[in-house]
Amino acid sequence: MRQSELFSRTYKEDPKDEVSVNAKLLERGGFVYKNSGGVYSYLPLGWKVIRKISAIIREEMNAIGGQEMLMPALVEKKYWDKSGRWDVGIGFEVKGKEEKTPGFVLGWTHEEVLTDIVSKYISSYQDLPFAAYQIQSKFRNEPRARSGLLRGKEFIMKDLYSFHVSLEDMFRYYNEVKGAYEKIFKRCGLKSIYTTAAGGDFTFSNTHEFQVESPAGEDEIVLCRLCNFAENKEISKNKGGDQCPECQKGVLDKIKTIEVGNIFPLGTKYSEAFNLQFVNKDGKKAYVVMGSYGIGLGRVMGTVSEIHHDEQGIIWPESVAPLKVHLLAVGEMTSSLKKQADIAYNKLAKAGIEVLYDDRAQVHAGEKFYDADLIGLPVRLVVSEKTIVQEKLEVKHRNEKETKLMKLEEIIKTLS
Ligand code: ATP
Ligand code: MG
Repeated sequence: MRQSELFSRTYKEDPKDEVSVNAKLLERGGFVYKNSGGVYSYLPLGWKVIRKISAIIREEMNAIGGQEMLMPALVEKKYWDKSGRWDVGIGFEVKGKEEKTPGFVLGWTHEEVLTDIVSKYISSYQDLPFAAYQIQSKFRNEPRARSGLLRGKEFIMKDLYSFHVSLEDMFRYYNEVKGAYEKIFKRCGLKSIYTTAAGGDFTFSNTHEFQVESPAGEDEIVLCRLCNFAENKEISKNKGGDQCPECQKGVLDKIKTIEVGNIFPLGTKYSEAFNLQFVNKDGKKAYVVMGSYGIGLGRVMGTVSEIHHDEQGIIWPESVAPLKVHLLAVGEMTSSLKKQADIAYNKLAKAGIEVLYDDRAQVHAGEKFYDADLIGLPVRLVVSEKTIVQEKLEVKHRNEKETKLMKLEEIIKTLS
């Protein structure tokens, strides 16, 4: 990808109307564009990050048998009437211009829609268990959308739903999802804390959140760093400074966290509402037991930038970096500089390495280095008259200070 062809660009100044670190860095770096409060576009570089995160999520969902599908964003009122969630205040109601009353709500979750679908296909215990997921935009009328990608009115979510013959089997799968979630967040460069939380609008029992410690967090949890006991403050009987009730040894910290994922044991709430029954081994009818499991992709991206940055910009973990290498042609753009930088770009690309190539002719060295730090790709390569003389390139990792000179072939070998 040639930087000269990229329609977006970076900005030196913080956006005026943003307070959160992730929004400032991601807007300045040209990853996202704020269309309205809590409504963002992903620009080409930012969309690459979302694609990396979705690839990781897909791999881990497929590995636990999740079947990918896509449901509508327009959800008709009849669905919410059945579950009793039409009046939940979080939705955006939708009506045609000529209509008096809204007949739809923009989907803010999809238990209702999927349970209805499944009820047309499932009839016997032999059809169970199974799980299906989608990666899709959700819409919630968030009153406090001031945290950039962490809290959108429109945001991309992965939502997985599972269907079982018994609570026991649901909790078996719930545990598998827990494992998959731990892998996903780790692969994205985040340390997640498995936290017991309240059920809210969704469920009969406690739920579990995956929380990431950050001063930008809007949640608070109590955490024992000795045994990893963690509870959301909303439900915890304990406070910071208390002895851990689990291991009886550690002292609880009260910390700010970002909720990146949430899993819900739903029981039979939705299968009852949609009459989703199956015939069990004894020939008797019973309601299907369900679970649901969410991850916000934009929130994960925002959290990564909150955790991995310095004064200069983002430091993308390799797994979710939009591209791996930032190649800079530095100095006056003579024909020899252009030629050597082009050769490096083509050879890297041929080796399958993703490169952002700063080939801009009129841009000074200082600005190119500034952009490279702000955009934060894992590896920076510099071609200049100085490096050309030595028949090498200058290599620097975004998370290290030192630079070194290496031959292109050697670089390709270590990167691929
Ligand atoms: P919160 O408590 O932060 O408002 P929630 O508990 O209402 O979120 P869930 O219904 O559990 O959200 O949604 C599942 C996941 O979707 C969350 O763990 C989070 O990663 C993401 N998510 C939820 N709301 C938003 C939002 N407004 N913007 C971005 N991501 C969100
Ligand atoms: Mg939640």
